[in-house]
Amino acid sequence: MTPDGERITVSQTELTLRNELCRVAERVHAAGLVSGSDGNVSTRLADDRFLVSASGTCLGTLTPDELVVIDANGDVVEGDRRASSERWMHLAAYGQRPDIRAIIHAHPPTVVAMTLVGLSMPSDVLPETIIAFGSAPTSAYATPGTRDGGDIVRDLARNNDAIILDRHGSLTMGDTIHAAMMKLEQLEHAARIITLARQLGELRTLSPDEIGRLIDLRKAYHGGDSQSRAN
Ligand SMILES: [Zn+2]
Repeated sequence: MTPDGERITVSQTELTLRNELCRVAERVHAAGLVSGSDGNVSTRLADDRFLVSASGTCLGTLTPDELVVIDANGDVVEGDRRASSERWMHLAAYGQRPDIRAIIHAHPPTVVAMTLVGLSMPSDVLPETIIAFGSAPTSAYATPGTRDGGDIVRDLARNNDAIILDRHGSLTMGDTIHAAMMKLEQLEHAARIITLARQLGELRTLSPDEIGRLIDLRKAYHGGDSQSRAN
């Protein structure tokens, strides 16, 4: 392919990614997993280039030109808007995970509500969550939109595709934006089921043998993902 042809291909790929991010962002908003200008989406374009939603945008109406390209320092290198102030979380996670290509930060209501009363997500009660993402640890609290947001997720991102942010929201990641969306939906759905169950009685945990079988299933489904490495 000619150099010109290559440039056209890269440009078309980026356009496709911009459109995919907007489609998924609309679903995040429609599902009530963010409100107003909450949340942000991003994808990796190259080792040192990331497409991220601009500051103050609404995920429900995000358009391809409301995404900016930033480098690993968080500086905008393409686009005339400011990048999301929560880009530090995305960059910290990408820095730990060369296998990850897309991230969603959202404010799923049940997940956040659990953190407000000091409850974490159990990783030994629902088979689907063990298969989907294993555990979803809760990070320390950081003021939203600050660089501290990156510091609190850096270590957790190494071995987890789903992280709960204390009093704030969630960070889910995957090899595509669709995979990150699936984990976000599964995280909030699990939080709702577990919250309902806690109102009805005491949670019954799965046996260690069954948890082992489910972890094996996850490895079979997801190959060498983070949880496979963690376990
Ligand atoms: Zn947020």
